[in-house]
Amino acid sequence: MRVGEFELIDKIRRRVKNSDELRLGIGDDCSSIAVPLDHELVTSTDLLLEGVHFRLDWTDLFSLGMKSIAVNISDLAAMGARPLSVHLAVGLPLNFSDQQVDQFLDGIFAGLDRYNVVLAGGDTCKSSDHLVISITVQGLCHKDRLIKRDGAKVGNDLWVSGTLGDSGLALRFLQQKQGLTEFLDQRHHRPEARIELGSSLGGLSLATAMLDLSDGIDGDLRHLLKASEVGARIELERLPLSHEFRTELQKDAALFELVLCGGEDYELLFTAEPDKRSRIESLSADMNISLQRIGEIIAEPALHYCEATGLNYQLQSGAFDHFSSTRDRSCE
Ligand code: ADP
Ligand code: MG
Repeated sequence: MRVGEFELIDKIRRRVKNSDELRLGIGDDCSSIAVPLDHELVTSTDLLLEGVHFRLDWTDLFSLGMKSIAVNISDLAAMGARPLSVHLAVGLPLNFSDQQVDQFLDGIFAGLDRYNVVLAGGDTCKSSDHLVISITVQGLCHKDRLIKRDGAKVGNDLWVSGTLGDSGLALRFLQQKQGLTEFLDQRHHRPEARIELGSSLGGLSLATAMLDLSDGIDGDLRHLLKASEVGARIELERLPLSHEFRTELQKDAALFELVLCGGEDYELLFTAEPDKRSRIESLSADMNISLQRIGEIIAEPALHYCEATGLNYQLQSGAFDHFSSTRDRSCE
């Protein structure tokens, strides 16, 4: 890498667009954001480590830049917030070429444009070996419209957007070095944050609790259930699967575990009162995003997977946990 730290920051700064709420952006010690009356500033940070979260022989740097933004914005979507700004801290490997740095930044800026957010600051460092990316996103939400994890009530419906398991299946095929299709690769390397959906569900007060699926329904839903002090019953045949996933499932029924534990779907999982069904279905049609009712919230603090036969399904494994040594879904 020939470009120096300050030259690079300057280069980044020249590409940044203006924003009404951003009072102070790149160039000072801190950025400063104006928060409108009755709104709250919501913030989330994610770390993306080469060898743990991504592999440079599996992804191009442009996609990686876009994905880094999308997976962070997905956390704002999960709260029903409107995204505003991003801080980007990056450790760039010494052996990166200027061209590689540009490809990564092109992806970052494409992500910023996609979600209409401004780059407000960050930190830039050289890394001896691996690429390290840490992104902090900030958004705004009206103080009464924030959708947290603790609002699910007994009798609420459980809904999910999009389809499940595609990203996990892509990762499986990448590890096995066969079977990957363009569709699955895109679902894994170019996820979309459901930001418009999240803010509509919040703005219209349709959801009582919500989160984004990053580790698989089996793990993530348990967080929501614990926070809300309730349980859930999921009807397995209602779980939304893509045509591609169904095709693979016909060849190998064991792949079904990826629907529940595959991770990196970045779909929204939410609970809602049953009398909101028709409004949620209209929203789904208006936004052209599939929303599927997959189960219900129950009082018993447990998660049941029900098959069409009426029997309960038992998972062989569990959701991904970075600190668990027994199960490793990371890409190493
Ligand atoms: P400091 O020494 O105060 O940490 P830096 O020299 O690291 O300042 O950064 C100078 C300015 O450039 C700051 O406003 C910082 O937010 C911004 N900046 C640094 N790196 C990045 C980056 N990768 N993306 C966006 N802004 C950055
Ligand atoms: Mg700094």
